[in-house]
Amino acid sequence: MTAQVATENMTGQAHIDLVDRYAAHNYHPLPVVVARAEGVWVEDADGKRYMDMLAAYSAVNFGHGHPDLIAAAKAQLDAVTLTSRAFQNDQLGPWCQSLAEMCDMEMVLPMNTGAEGVETAIKTARKWGYTRKGVPADKAKIICCEDNFHGRTTTIISFSTDPLCRTGFGPFTPGFEVIKYGDIDALRNAIDDHTVAFLVEPIQGEAGIIVPPAGYLQQVKELCDKKNILFIADEIQAGLGRCGATFCCDTEDVKPDMYILGKALGGGIMPLSAVVSNREILGVFEPGNHGSTFGGNPLACAVGRAVLDILKTDKYQKNARELGEYLFDRLRAIKTDKVKEIRGRGLWVGIEFHPEAGVARKYCEALIQEGMLCKDTHEQTMRLAPPLCITKDELDWALERLDKVLA
Ligand code: PLP
Repeated sequence: MTAQVATENMTGQAHIDLVDRYAAHNYHPLPVVVARAEGVWVEDADGKRYMDMLAAYSAVNFGHGHPDLIAAAKAQLDAVTLTSRAFQNDQLGPWCQSLAEMCDMEMVLPMNTGAEGVETAIKTARKWGYTRKGVPADKAKIICCEDNFHGRTTTIISFSTDPLCRTGFGPFTPGFEVIKYGDIDALRNAIDDHTVAFLVEPIQGEAGIIVPPAGYLQQVKELCDKKNILFIADEIQAGLGRCGATFCCDTEDVKPDMYILGKALGGGIMPLSAVVSNREILGVFEPGNHGSTFGGNPLACAVGRAVLDILKTDKYQKNARELGEYLFDRLRAIKTDKVKEIRGRGLWVGIEFHPEAGVARKYCEALIQEGMLCKDTHEQTMRLAPPLCITKDELDWALERLDKVLA
């Protein structure tokens, strides 16, 4: 047997070399090897401290090592971690009840990753279309948007418009039509008798924090109701406090027919995703139709219950609302000719650079030198998404660095 690799004395570079050699190259991470983390701060393998302004793409919304979440996980580790759905466990029911109540919906279908949540929503909408709406077998159509990001399984990339996700991975799953984001007429024109759902991010995250026109989501809701199609909101990245409310849809005063949740739902500890909807919709499933060995496992549900308790306090939503406003004001006041646009909501910001100013990665690398972690998306845009426990002083610290690098 090979001895376990000792990591205590390894440098950051040694870790990077190992990953480069032994892990598939399906990512291009910034060269920081995180070894410890607390709140908004992380420390690398060489002992250097950084502020985390990405929060694992919103999975760590409540901060690294939130004491309530760690306590829930530790207690559950000592009780039971996995039963599969062959049996019941004593965490699933209470978590489903709390989540359904928080969403003002009736039912929950638990999965693990975000992509599985999206796959689940697609299956739900199709079956609802056949069994409730009367769409002929195998004819269901789901409408999606250009520049969407809903994950990278084979079916999900079938309606992606990003060549990096798609090229080399066909043949693709049929049954999707892609329209322009934020364009209600495009949606109206695309709906036909076989349409079962419109799948949309309330703010497009990976596309560069693209905010649709004011009133768009309201119009989507009205149109979907009128045409009897399901409005599915993918709140995996936008939801659970990030935009200054429990759901991004709340900020537009809209309730979809189905939420897809993930990332922060598991508190940054366990992968936990869910589709949440009403009985008329999620009631289409029968035993054997769908599932996952780990979906609804007691460890994830125990952490998930603590997450929902945190969300009930509105503490992080409020912080995102208040400090978000401050952050946007301060960012827009930075004197720079490099920035084309600053956009977002709550504590979620996209800073798009002019092409002449170079790619966003260059600025992320410069910020690493200043002790701050954030990430580029789609070449020209830098994304800021700090843990929502960030304080004003910590934000000021980040703004000082941004001021220097963007100037
Ligand atoms: N949907 C949205 C809006 C996302 O931002 C992501 C991930 O970034 C996903 C789905 C996929 O989630 P996962 O990476 O957990 O599969």
